[in-house]
Amino acid sequence: MSVLQARTLGLTNYSVLVSHVCVPPAMHAILGSPHNRVQAFLAAGHVCAVMGYWEYPPIASQYHVPIVVTGFEPVDLLQGIIAAVRQLEAGKAEVENAYGRAVTYEGNKAAQAVLEQVFEPCDRKWRGIGLIPMSGWRLRPELDPFNAEVRYDVSQIQSEESPLCQAGLVLQGLLKPSQCPAFGKECTPTHPLGATMVSSEGACAAYYRYRGQ
Ligand code: SF4
Repeated sequence: MSVLQARTLGLTNYSVLVSHVCVPPAMHAILGSPHNRVQAFLAAGHVCAVMGYWEYPPIASQYHVPIVVTGFEPVDLLQGIIAAVRQLEAGKAEVENAYGRAVTYEGNKAAQAVLEQVFEPCDRKWRGIGLIPMSGWRLRPELDPFNAEVRYDVSQIQSEESPLCQAGLVLQGLLKPSQCPAFGKECTPTHPLGATMVSSEGACAAYYRYRGQ
Protein backbone atom coordinates (compact mmCIF):
# COMPACT_ATOMS: atom_id res chain seq x y z
CA MET A 1 0.00 0.00 0.00
CA SER A 2 2.83 2.37 0.83
CA VAL A 3 4.53 1.68 -2.50
CA LEU A 4 1.30 2.35 -4.39
CA GLN A 5 0.86 5.56 -2.41
CA ALA A 6 4.45 6.58 -3.14
CA ARG A 7 3.83 6.05 -6.85
CA THR A 8 0.62 8.05 -6.70
CA LEU A 9 2.44 10.91 -4.97
CA GLY A 10 5.42 10.67 -7.33
CA LEU A 11 7.88 10.25 -4.48
CA THR A 12 11.50 9.77 -5.46
CA ASN A 13 12.98 9.26 -2.00
CA TYR A 14 11.08 6.14 -0.96
CA SER A 15 12.04 2.52 -1.46
CA VAL A 16 11.54 -0.82 0.27
CA LEU A 17 13.69 -3.91 0.65
CA VAL A 18 11.32 -6.83 0.21
CA SER A 19 12.00 -10.24 1.74
CA HIS A 20 8.49 -11.64 2.00
CA VAL A 21 7.94 -15.35 1.82
CA CYS A 22 5.12 -17.50 0.51
CA VAL A 23 3.94 -20.42 2.65
CA PRO A 24 2.70 -23.19 0.26
CA PRO A 25 6.06 -23.72 -1.54
CA ALA A 26 7.78 -24.09 1.85
CA MET A 27 5.17 -26.67 2.91
CA HIS A 28 5.83 -28.59 -0.31
CA ALA A 29 9.59 -28.44 0.35
CA ILE A 30 9.21 -29.78 3.90
CA LEU A 31 6.62 -32.44 3.12
CA GLY A 32 8.41 -33.56 -0.04
CA SER A 33 11.71 -34.11 1.76
CA PRO A 34 12.68 -37.79 2.17
CA HIS A 35 13.53 -36.95 5.81
CA ASN A 36 10.19 -35.34 6.57
CA ARG A 37 8.75 -36.05 10.03
CA VAL A 38 6.00 -33.40 10.01
CA GLN A 39 2.63 -35.13 10.41
CA ALA A 40 0.37 -32.07 10.52
CA PHE A 41 0.48 -28.31 10.13
CA LEU A 42 -0.96 -25.48 12.16
CA ALA A 43 -1.44 -22.90 9.41
CA ALA A 44 -0.59 -19.44 10.74
CA GLY A 45 -3.76 -17.47 11.39
CA HIS A 46 -2.32 -14.05 10.54
CA VAL A 47 -1.21 -15.28 7.10
CA CYS A 48 -4.57 -16.91 6.46
CA ALA A 49 -6.45 -13.76 7.53
CA VAL A 50 -5.11 -12.24 4.32
CA MET A 51 -4.56 -15.25 2.06
CA GLY A 52 -7.46 -17.46 3.17
CA TYR A 53 -6.85 -21.19 3.08
CA TRP A 54 -8.00 -22.13 -0.41
CA GLU A 55 -4.41 -23.05 -1.34
CA TYR A 56 -4.17 -25.77 1.32
CA PRO A 57 -6.62 -28.59 0.36
CA PRO A 58 -4.42 -29.88 -2.51
CA ILE A 59 -1.42 -29.99 -0.14
CA ALA A 60 -3.39 -31.83 2.56
CA SER A 61 -4.55 -34.45 0.10
CA GLN A 62 -1.23 -34.78 -1.82
CA TYR A 63 0.79 -35.53 1.34
CA HIS A 64 -2.09 -36.81 3.48
CA VAL A 65 -1.50 -34.34 6.32
CA PRO A 66 -4.09 -32.44 8.37
CA ILE A 67 -3.76 -28.65 8.11
CA VAL A 68 -5.49 -26.61 10.80
CA VAL A 69 -5.74 -22.83 10.53
CA THR A 70 -4.83 -21.67 14.04
CA GLY A 71 -4.77 -18.40 15.99
CA PHE A 72 -2.24 -17.16 18.51
CA GLU A 73 -3.91 -16.97 21.91
CA PRO A 74 -3.05 -19.96 24.16
CA VAL A 75 -6.56 -21.41 23.78
CA ASP A 76 -6.37 -20.94 20.00
CA LEU A 77 -3.18 -22.98 19.90
CA LEU A 78 -4.69 -25.74 22.03
CA GLN A 79 -7.75 -25.76 19.79
CA GLY A 80 -5.56 -26.08 16.68
CA ILE A 81 -3.44 -28.83 18.22
CA ILE A 82 -6.40 -30.90 19.38
CA ALA A 83 -8.08 -30.56 15.98
CA ALA A 84 -4.89 -31.82 14.30
CA VAL A 85 -4.51 -34.70 16.78
CA ARG A 86 -8.16 -35.73 16.35
CA GLN A 87 -7.69 -35.85 12.59
CA LEU A 88 -4.50 -37.90 12.94
CA GLU A 89 -6.23 -40.35 15.27
CA ALA A 90 -9.12 -40.66 12.83
CA GLY A 91 -6.76 -41.10 9.87
CA LYS A 92 -8.06 -37.91 8.25
CA ALA A 93 -6.12 -35.33 6.27
CA GLU A 94 -8.39 -32.33 5.91
CA VAL A 95 -8.06 -28.57 6.05
CA GLU A 96 -9.87 -27.22 9.08
CA ASN A 97 -10.39 -23.66 10.25
CA ALA A 98 -9.95 -23.28 14.02
CA TYR A 99 -9.63 -19.49 13.76
CA GLY A 100 -13.02 -18.68 12.33
CA ARG A 101 -13.28 -15.32 14.07
CA ALA A 102 -10.49 -13.94 11.84
CA VAL A 103 -10.13 -16.23 8.83
CA THR A 104 -12.38 -17.12 5.92
CA TYR A 105 -11.78 -19.65 3.14
CA GLU A 106 -11.30 -16.90 0.55
CA GLY A 107 -9.31 -14.55 2.79
CA ASN A 108 -9.14 -10.82 2.26
CA LYS A 109 -9.84 -10.46 -1.46
CA ALA A 110 -9.08 -6.73 -1.51
CA ALA A 111 -5.68 -7.31 0.09
CA GLN A 112 -4.95 -10.20 -2.29
CA ALA A 113 -5.72 -7.91 -5.24
CA VAL A 114 -3.19 -5.38 -3.95
CA LEU A 115 -0.59 -8.12 -3.44
CA GLU A 116 -1.17 -9.27 -7.01
CA GLN A 117 -0.71 -5.71 -8.23
CA VAL A 118 2.52 -5.12 -6.33
CA PHE A 119 4.34 -8.45 -6.06
CA GLU A 120 5.37 -11.38 -8.23
CA PRO A 121 6.77 -14.76 -7.07
CA CYS A 122 10.52 -15.31 -6.94
CA ASP A 123 13.01 -17.85 -5.59
CA ARG A 124 13.84 -17.20 -1.94
CA LYS A 125 16.53 -18.48 0.37
CA TRP A 126 15.19 -19.59 3.74
CA ARG A 127 17.46 -19.38 6.73
CA GLY A 128 18.69 -22.82 7.69
CA ILE A 129 16.90 -24.52 4.81
CA GLY A 130 18.30 -22.97 1.65
CA LEU A 131 16.71 -21.88 -1.58
CA ILE A 132 13.10 -22.87 -2.17
CA PRO A 133 11.92 -22.13 -5.73
CA MET A 134 9.14 -19.58 -6.07
CA SER A 135 8.75 -19.27 -2.31
CA GLY A 136 9.19 -15.51 -2.10
CA TRP A 137 7.66 -12.29 -3.34
CA ARG A 138 9.46 -9.42 -5.01
CA LEU A 139 8.20 -6.12 -6.30
CA ARG A 140 7.01 -6.23 -9.90
CA PRO A 141 9.50 -4.71 -12.38
CA GLU A 142 7.26 -1.69 -13.02
CA LEU A 143 7.84 -0.76 -9.37
CA ASP A 144 11.64 -0.84 -9.67
CA PRO A 145 11.91 2.86 -8.74
CA PHE A 146 10.72 1.81 -5.27
CA ASN A 147 12.77 -1.37 -5.06
CA ALA A 148 15.80 -0.85 -2.79
CA GLU A 149 17.38 -4.01 -4.17
CA VAL A 150 17.49 -2.41 -7.61
CA ARG A 151 18.22 1.17 -6.55
CA TYR A 152 21.08 0.41 -4.21
CA ASP A 153 22.45 -2.79 -5.74
CA VAL A 154 22.33 -4.69 -2.45
CA SER A 155 21.10 -8.05 -3.74
CA GLN A 156 24.57 -9.58 -3.47
CA ILE A 157 24.80 -8.99 0.28
CA GLN A 158 24.42 -12.31 2.06
CA SER A 159 23.79 -12.76 5.76
CA GLU A 160 26.06 -15.23 7.48
CA GLU A 161 24.43 -17.86 9.62
CA SER A 162 26.16 -19.07 12.74
CA PRO A 163 27.78 -22.46 12.09
CA LEU A 164 26.44 -23.50 15.52
CA CYS A 165 22.82 -22.90 14.57
CA GLN A 166 20.62 -25.80 13.47
CA ALA A 167 17.40 -23.84 13.06
CA GLY A 168 16.78 -25.45 9.67
CA LEU A 169 16.49 -28.86 11.33
CA VAL A 170 14.26 -27.39 14.04
CA LEU A 171 12.01 -25.81 11.42
CA GLN A 172 11.67 -29.15 9.66
CA GLY A 173 10.85 -31.02 12.86
CA LEU A 174 14.07 -33.04 12.66
CA LEU A 175 15.62 -31.67 15.86
CA LYS A 176 14.16 -30.47 19.14
CA PRO A 177 15.52 -27.08 20.19
CA SER A 178 16.86 -28.55 23.44
CA GLN A 179 18.91 -31.04 21.38
CA CYS A 180 20.85 -28.19 19.78
CA PRO A 181 24.25 -27.97 21.53
CA ALA A 182 24.06 -24.16 21.57
CA PHE A 183 20.60 -24.04 23.18
CA GLY A 184 20.67 -21.99 26.38
CA LYS A 185 24.45 -21.62 26.13
CA GLU A 186 25.71 -19.58 23.17
CA CYS A 187 22.09 -19.05 22.08
CA THR A 188 19.42 -17.38 24.24
CA PRO A 189 16.59 -14.92 23.48
CA THR A 190 18.88 -12.02 24.42
CA HIS A 191 21.70 -13.40 22.23
CA PRO A 192 19.91 -15.41 19.53
CA LEU A 193 21.93 -17.24 16.91
CA GLY A 194 18.98 -18.18 14.73
CA ALA A 195 15.51 -17.10 13.65
CA THR A 196 13.75 -19.63 15.85
CA MET A 197 15.25 -18.01 18.98
CA VAL A 198 14.60 -14.42 17.89
CA SER A 199 10.84 -14.07 18.02
CA SER A 200 8.74 -15.13 20.98
CA GLU A 201 6.74 -17.61 18.87
CA GLY A 202 9.90 -19.31 17.58
CA ALA A 203 10.30 -22.92 18.65
CA CYS A 204 13.69 -22.37 20.30
CA ALA A 205 12.46 -19.29 22.18
CA ALA A 206 9.39 -21.19 23.43
CA TYR A 207 11.51 -24.15 24.57
CA TYR A 208 13.81 -21.71 26.34
CA ARG A 209 11.04 -19.78 28.03
CA TYR A 210 9.20 -22.83 29.29
CA ARG A 211 12.21 -25.04 29.98
CA GLY A 212 11.86 -27.02 33.17
CA GLN A 213 8.11 -26.34 33.50
S1 SF4 B 1 18.89 -23.04 19.92
FE1 SF4 B 1 19.72 -21.26 18.82
S2 SF4 B 1 21.48 -22.05 17.75
FE2 SF4 B 1 20.22 -23.81 18.28
S3 SF4 B 1 18.83 -24.13 16.54
FE3 SF4 B 1 17.77 -22.81 17.97
S4 SF4 B 1 18.22 -20.74 17.22
FE4 SF4 B 1 19.76 -22.08 16.31
